[in-house]
Amino acid sequence: MIIQPKTRGFICTTAHPEGCAAQVQRQVEYVQAQPKISGPRNVLVVGASTGYGLASRIVSAFGAGANTVGVFFDKPAEGSRTASAGWYNSAAFEAEAAKAGSKSYSIVGDAFSDDIKAKTIDLIRTELGSIDLLVYSVASPRRTHPKTGETFSSVIKPIGETYTNKTVNFHTGEVTEASIEPASEDEIRQTVAVMGGEDWQMWIDALQEAGVLADGATTVAYSYIGPEITHAVYWDGTIGKAKNDLEETAKRLNEQLASKGGRAFISVNKALVTQSSAAIPVVPLYISVLYKVMKEHGLHEGCIEQMYRLFSQRLYTGEAAPLDDQGRIRIDDLEMRPEIQQEVTRIWENLSTDNINELSDLASYREEFFQLFGFETAGIDYDADTDPAVDIPNLR
Ligand code: NAD
Repeated sequence: MIIQPKTRGFICTTAHPEGCAAQVQRQVEYVQAQPKISGPRNVLVVGASTGYGLASRIVSAFGAGANTVGVFFDKPAEGSRTASAGWYNSAAFEAEAAKAGSKSYSIVGDAFSDDIKAKTIDLIRTELGSIDLLVYSVASPRRTHPKTGETFSSVIKPIGETYTNKTVNFHTGEVTEASIEPASEDEIRQTVAVMGGEDWQMWIDALQEAGVLADGATTVAYSYIGPEITHAVYWDGTIGKAKNDLEETAKRLNEQLASKGGRAFISVNKALVTQSSAAIPVVPLYISVLYKVMKEHGLHEGCIEQMYRLFSQRLYTGEAAPLDDQGRIRIDDLEMRPEIQQEVTRIWENLSTDNINELSDLASYREEFFQLFGFETAGIDYDADTDPAVDIPNLR
C-alpha cells in the first residue's frame, strides 16, 4: 500500500517501515563513527522502541558492542493499518544488530505488568544469564498497577494555579495562548503512579530476586528539568512531581545496589522532539526556539548524540560519574547554558504567528516530528507500494 502520514493533533496514526529503518540506520551510523565505549555487556532497555530508549539501545549495541533486550508497547500492522513506529524501529534495530554480531531480543507488552517482567526475566536467564545495565525509559499516559489492578492516568498540568503561556500548533504555525487549569490532588497522585519510580523499583526488585542482575550493575532513568518558561507546566507541575519521585527512587536503588557494587542514576536529558514531548503544551514551541538558538551556537544534539554522550562521558568513563548538587547526571548542560537560555527568553517574548518561522526553527520541529514516524526522510519513495507487515526477528 501507499503509506502517507495521517495526523490527529500531536499524534500520527501511520508509520512508514522503510523510513523508520532509515532513521534507525542514521543513528547506528552516527554511533559507529564515534570511538568505542568500554561499557555494559548485556543491557535491558524498558521503553526501547522510540526516543531516548531506542537511542540508549543503539548506543549499547553499536557503541559498546552489548547484547540487548528491548521491552516496549507497540503494535504490528493489521490489515490496512500500519504498525506503530516503534515496531518498525525495533525490527530495523534487530536486523542491524545481527549484522554487527550482537544478540538482541524484543518483548512487546505492558512493562508495568508482572507477566512481562516474568517473561523478560526468563529470556534474560536463558539467553544472557544476567544483565549489567537496566535503562528505564518508559513514557506512558496510563498504568495499571500489577497488585491492586487500579488504572492510573497521567496528566500534564500545573499545580496550585492556572498556567497561561504561548503555545504553537506545529502543523499550521499558529501561536496562541494556552491556559491549563491546575491539577487536583488525585490527578497528581495518578501522574506520580504512572511516571514516578514505583515501576522502576519493581523491575530492579524482580531482576534481583530472580538473580539475573549482575553484581556491579548500573541502572538509569531519565528526567527533564528545563527553563523557567516551562516550569509551571513541567518541573513545578504534575510531571515534575513524578520526576521527583523518580529521583527519590534513584537514591533508594543506589543504596540497594551499592552493597554489590552497583549504581542507580537519574540522567537529566535535553528537550527533544519525541512522541511524548509533542503532547506537552508550550514545549513544542520552546523546542522550536531552542533548536534555532542551539544550532546557531553549534550545540545542537538529538537523542542519539545525547545518549552517546551519556554513555561515553558520564556512565562509562572508568571514573565516578560527575553529578550535580542533587546527585543527578546532567546532559542538559548545553541546553541550560545561560547564553542559550537568555537568547531563548529574549526570542520567546517577541514570538507570534507572524514571525514564528523567522524567530524559531519550527520547520525542523515539524520535520523531526514526521521523521519519528518514518516520513520526510531522504531516500524514501513515499509514492511506492510498501508492505506494512514487517516481522521483528527475535520477538519473544
Ligand atoms: P517516547 O514516547 O519516545 O518513548 C517511550 C517508550 O516507552 C516507547 O518505547 C514505548 O513503547 C514505551 N512504553 C510506553 N508505555 C509502555 C508500557 N506500558 N510498556 C512497555 N513500554 C512502554 O518517550 P521519550 O521522550 O523518549 O521519553 C523517555 C524518557 O525520557 C521519559 O522518562 C521522559 O520523561 C524522559 N525525557 C524526555 C525528554 C524529551 O524531551 N523527550 C527530555 C528529557 C527526559
